[in-house]
Amino acid sequence: MSDYRYPYKDAEFILDHLVGFDRLCEEAGLEDINLELASAVLEEANRLGSEVWAPLNVVGDREGATLGEEGVRETPGFKEAYDQYVEGGWAGLGFPEEFGGQGMPKVLFTAVDEIWQSSNLGFSLCSLLTHGAVEALMAHGSEELKATYLPKMVSGEWTGTMNLTEPQAGSDLAAVNCRAVPEGDHYKIYGQKIFITWGDHQMTDNVIHLVLARLPDAPAGVKGISLFLVPKFLLDENGEPGERNDASCISLEHKLGIHGSPTCVMSFGDGDGAVGYLVGEPHRGLMAMFTMMNDARQSVGLQGLSVSERSYQQALAWAKERLQGTRSDGSRYPIIDFPDVRRLLLLMKSGTEEMRALAYLASAEIDKAHFAADADRRASHMARVELFTPIVKGWLTELSQELTSHGVQIHGGMGFIEETGSAQHYRDARITTIYEGTTAIQANDLVGRKTLANNGEVLAALLRDIQATADNMQAVDGLADMGTSLAQVVAQGEAARQWLLDHAGEDRYAAGSASVNYLMLLGYLCGGWVMGQAALKAQALLDAGQGDKGFLETKRVTARFYFEHLLPRASACLAAVEAGSSSVMALAPEQF
Ligand SMILES: Cc1cc2nc3c(=O)[nH]c(=O)nc-3n(C[C@H](O)[C@H](O)[C@H](O)COP(=O)(O)OP(=O)(O)OC[C@H]3O[C@@H](n4cnc5c(N)ncnc54)[C@H](O)[C@@H]3O)c2cc1C
Repeated sequence: MSDYRYPYKDAEFILDHLVGFDRLCEEAGLEDINLELASAVLEEANRLGSEVWAPLNVVGDREGATLGEEGVRETPGFKEAYDQYVEGGWAGLGFPEEFGGQGMPKVLFTAVDEIWQSSNLGFSLCSLLTHGAVEALMAHGSEELKATYLPKMVSGEWTGTMNLTEPQAGSDLAAVNCRAVPEGDHYKIYGQKIFITWGDHQMTDNVIHLVLARLPDAPAGVKGISLFLVPKFLLDENGEPGERNDASCISLEHKLGIHGSPTCVMSFGDGDGAVGYLVGEPHRGLMAMFTMMNDARQSVGLQGLSVSERSYQQALAWAKERLQGTRSDGSRYPIIDFPDVRRLLLLMKSGTEEMRALAYLASAEIDKAHFAADADRRASHMARVELFTPIVKGWLTELSQELTSHGVQIHGGMGFIEETGSAQHYRDARITTIYEGTTAIQANDLVGRKTLANNGEVLAALLRDIQATADNMQAVDGLADMGTSLAQVVAQGEAARQWLLDHAGEDRYAAGSASVNYLMLLGYLCGGWVMGQAALKAQALLDAGQGDKGFLETKRVTARFYFEHLLPRASACLAAVEAGSSSVMALAPEQF
């Protein structure tokens, strides 16, 4: 089963009523862009995604990429699908017009990205990485590098990769030891990178690698890492791919999921050295790479939503078809009539709805951070973007582990059998909590740079906004009890914030012991916030007799279900935060 359809109604409700899409475009000076145009864009993207990309999802899973004489050969059918994506102008949707992009707001790009990712997670990684590489080059590349490489990358004619990981340097990038040796106007790069997503393929006539390496005079640690652009083919005098560079994929990893995405071991400088060009300043490469990683982290968070949505749509179809109950007259009824199957479906439905709302709102914050009229507002939106990034990455992907597992469970035994395709979503989802920084790394970031570094002020501002939503809910008939619950979880968020401020300095294991539960608590709280806003809006529209009654009544139910079944998990997270490090660090390694 590969039927997939973008959930327009929910997406448009979020864009219109939670994001305030038209107002956002107006404030950004994007006069020609409005919700009507966004809907048309989404409909077109859905056509390509559901008709072309989605049927290739299972093909990618069964016939992953192969490595041959000419390099990596992608899954059959992917090149044709990629060509359609490029011809449709999709690659440049969110990029500035100056480089050939279409200048659409980030939040619309994110909504479209959900379609690509739900349709085919492994395949969509190619454009995800290219997107991050473009962002890094735009922010840190020299004018010459930008003029030479960006137009082709923005159009999708060339793709991009991110080369950080080495066998000894995974989460700890301080251990990177690829070398860069200056030579005239460029550098020669030597070393090996592992796990490089879409490190090679035949879909385009060039691949542009962004590679972390050390200059000869580099200080040790993260402050001695520089960033280099290393093309697969060097450019000739006309700017066209010419001579092959000394950079190639030497093997492909065998993986649990995302088989359609080639994961390459890349070797740089096996012969004369790979020609590379410095991006940004020497020794400041990690900072430049962070531009790419922050972008990619929100996109990977979105993968948590996208793969869960695909899994949900499939589970729902199954639950309506699979007959397992027998009535007294002998007729049979489908499993969707059983309360526990309903519970699983609602966990998936309310879970994906709140993920979508949070991912889109976080993405709209990026637009606001760029477009807000004054510097103070830009700074406060940027602080919110930075706070949201580890929550979107960490929490959405963790939740996707559970939701795609429910997708399998709803299928019963057939979920465990590859034929139905439900298992693929579960396997594909598994990587999302690992790459682009594991959940623990997101949680460290949330605690360290996003909380302790600003004395918890940025979170305090978010908690005030969530409390305001709780107050509004308490004043509305039918939502008051949910408002009270949300206020209680705001208080739990505040207690966790205060606990960290009080304990992180006095116990060196406190922050690391509490961090993932802190992240999960804030995730459930943010989910409650966005579902609370959705419930308020749905109620207001129903009271005014406006909008699609059926959709709005359903939204009220999914919001309530979220408040009854998912939000209460926050209190368990707080208890674990407050337990601190005592039992976590009590055993010596040999006692395990
Ligand atoms: C399919 C796939 C695609 C990938 N694509 C790319 C790519 O395109 N480019 C690229 O550069 N890399 C890529 N990676 C690498 C990926 O980003 C790393 O695997 C990831 O960052 C984790 O590093 P590691 O595997 O070395 O695990 P480790 O760092 O060894 O981590 C092992 C465990 O220890 C924990 N841990 C480590 N450090 C800490 C800490 N400080 N605090 C708490 N816990 C910690 C981790 O959370 C994890 O549970 C990819 C990996 C895979 C599997």
